[in-house]
Amino acid sequence: MKRSLLYITIFLVFFHINTNAKNTNINKITNDVITITPSKKQLQLLGWPNDIINSVALRTIEGIVLIDTQNSPANARLVKNAVIEYFNDSTFTYIINTHGHSAHTGGNCIFDQSRIVAHVNSADEIKNYDDIFLGQTVEFLRKRIQYQNSVLDTVRAENAFTDSINEDIDRYKFFEADLINNYRVRYPDLTFQQNLELKPGNKTIELNYMGKGHGNADIIVYIKEDKTLCTGNLFHLGAYKNEEMPSFYLNRVNEIDKWIETLSTFLNTHNDIDYVLTTHGKKPFTRENIVFINEYCKAVRDAVKKAKTEGKTMETVQDSEPFESFFSQYSNIVRFNNEAKEMHARNIRLIWQYIE
Ligand SMILES: [Zn+2]
Repeated sequence: MKRSLLYITIFLVFFHINTNAKNTNINKITNDVITITPSKKQLQLLGWPNDIINSVALRTIEGIVLIDTQNSPANARLVKNAVIEYFNDSTFTYIINTHGHSAHTGGNCIFDQSRIVAHVNSADEIKNYDDIFLGQTVEFLRKRIQYQNSVLDTVRAENAFTDSINEDIDRYKFFEADLINNYRVRYPDLTFQQNLELKPGNKTIELNYMGKGHGNADIIVYIKEDKTLCTGNLFHLGAYKNEEMPSFYLNRVNEIDKWIETLSTFLNTHNDIDYVLTTHGKKPFTRENIVFINEYCKAVRDAVKKAKTEGKTMETVQDSEPFESFFSQYSNIVRFNNEAKEMHARNIRLIWQYIE
């Protein structure tokens, strides 16, 4: 028992050393745009279930614009420092939150000199989500500290191994203190209802409200000069194995007409979209992915409407067969595999309750 505990701990120590060599992962999108995420280990410390939380940083001649601030001040600090180093610029002009959930706003307080920009509904989301999330995280960290102390109790002499455990404990305590003492939810100070354009220096940033779905405050953020669209956690893109397949939202209001209206207007007025960046995706998408998603939303809405008009059951729409020909048109974008079929059936079930 004692020995297996030792092996597990040695493994964790090596894992720790390896991942600590690199605190963030940076992905260059254009000369002025990067995605940046703390290394996996940092996220696991806080118990967030996602492997990846991407922030997007944009360089302008007036300073940096950062889109989404991670799930905690500690992670936001990592990202902030790496961005300063990467662009050799320590001014942050705007911080944009793609919505109010804590993985996107948890580090807002680190940027106390910058304006925080978000949809007007995001304040309620920040409040609700962080009240719950903060409590869970502190409890999680305390359990980790307790566990590491119990490991220390099994070791007699002080050596490199105990040093590394003590380092871990220090780090956990650092996060705990960060959350308990310094954690200040910072709310947006520049909000909007439907559209907002920001013009920091040489860049143009367009923000568009998507409608209720993933949350109540989801926006898309388009960086004109870099032909880059940031979608936050819209439709959970990139979060599933079948990354391109949109997933609608359980137990939330799903404003599918509004999604279609916003995306259609955006696509009709924007041909130049080279990169689509999602919060939880491993790779950038392209304009075609957004076109597919918009057409998929329309197809779902129309199929549900038609079935209701004709008095058919929800199950007839959930059946993947009628959608085979639709998906075959987009076979270069998305695979209509078993996972996608399951997601599709669930999407239909969620939308069914919102269409008369
Ligand atoms: Zn979210």
